[in-house]
Amino acid sequence: MQQLHVLIVGAGIGGLTTALALQRAGIGVSIYEQATALAEVGAGLTLASNASLILQYLGLGAVLEDLGVVPGRGAVLDYRNGRTLVDIPRGATQVERFGAPYCQIHRNDLHAALVAAVRSADPGCLHLGCSLEDFGQDDAGVTALFANGETALGDVLIGCDGIRSTVRARLFGVEDPRFTGYVAWRGLVPLERLTPSMLVPDSAVWIGPGHFLTRYKIRRGELLNYIAIARTKGWVEEGWSVRSTVESLLAEFRDFEPTARSILMATPRDQCFKWGIFDRDPLPTWTTGRVTLLGDAAHPTTPFLGQGVAMALEDALVLARALVASGSVPEALARYEQARVTRANFVLVASRENGINLTTTDPDRYDEAAHRNEESLDLAGYNALTVPV
Ligand SMILES: Cc1cc2nc3c(=O)[nH]c(=O)nc-3n(C[C@H](O)[C@H](O)[C@H](O)COP(=O)(O)OP(=O)(O)OC[C@H]3O[C@@H](n4cnc5c(N)ncnc54)[C@H](O)[C@@H]3O)c2cc1C
Repeated sequence: MQQLHVLIVGAGIGGLTTALALQRAGIGVSIYEQATALAEVGAGLTLASNASLILQYLGLGAVLEDLGVVPGRGAVLDYRNGRTLVDIPRGATQVERFGAPYCQIHRNDLHAALVAAVRSADPGCLHLGCSLEDFGQDDAGVTALFANGETALGDVLIGCDGIRSTVRARLFGVEDPRFTGYVAWRGLVPLERLTPSMLVPDSAVWIGPGHFLTRYKIRRGELLNYIAIARTKGWVEEGWSVRSTVESLLAEFRDFEPTARSILMATPRDQCFKWGIFDRDPLPTWTTGRVTLLGDAAHPTTPFLGQGVAMALEDALVLARALVASGSVPEALARYEQARVTRANFVLVASRENGINLTTTDPDRYDEAAHRNEESLDLAGYNALTVPV
């Protein structure tokens, strides 16, 4: 099986982590990404212990320490007055309980580190400007066809091509993602625009009817990342680069207490983005023959539990382990699915439900018993390095 060559479609966090895990296992990979250049897009990501454990194993622990931020404490706050409804110990507690930190990082910092790691293992493995159009497969292998006319041959093809996955559409039919009814603004605020009292506790979530706002530090603590989410009846565009205005954000969050609004107000004019939140219904299977799905292509997950990236990382490590442990490609992909589908689909549904929980529970009744997170749902203790495959 170590003679395999694996074709990976999509150089997002899922595709790159899969590539790195396979390279570490001695398996050759080629990664095909539709973008012609790797630009800085996106903002903050949460890596709970189940995610950072994997990155540490793949040699990126120093990147998390250098560029990530480990919050000492988190809290859920009342949108009307900032009163603490739930206090959440983080920092050393997570390392003691789960063996790895709960950490927050700029997506681009993690992405750049993954790109450097896969290129250092194999300088020619990443092919930009290659948009997958179609593929064919038989007993001997898989052929991928790209829009630029190039083709690639391999033993396995993994669709890591995100929520609008072409691979998924070819395997299971074309179906648009589902608009969840939430619109989200995200902003990055340089810390010098804020006062220390606005940053207590280290990470925070304000909840209110139909709205919630979460904020945390990233990039060595130089930037404050926030996501402000509101329920809406209208359909909103999906995408990571759709600009919005601070004025429209403030109008939507007009009932939030002064500290929360001061953070939104401090957003630089060119750093306020807005996007519609989409997901898909769970799939019972991700594989046909030598082709499978991974990350958002398989189970696009809303941000309400902060576990979307973690699921892609877990998929990547488990898939690499299944390929190493199996005697054939079909056996490996069956073992990968067996280990992953139930958990990833559980998180997809639990994340949806938590969106409802956060935006409909009366703050006067929101307490530790009502709160759902990676700990209360027992997600943080999952160990992709040792889970049976
Ligand atoms: C540009 C960008 C910015 C993001 N920013 C954030 C953020 O700030 N915060 C957050 O929580 N999440 C963000 N996400 C989403 C988050 O990274 C994912 O939800 C999670 O990491 C799962 O990753 P994934 O690799 O499965 O999918 P994605 O991260 O969506 O990666 C999919 C990759 O596949 C490529 N691709 C798609 N179709 C094709 C094709 N036909 N051929 C070749 N390549 C293709 C895409 O260009 C992309 O690079 C962002 C995603 C993207 C693409």
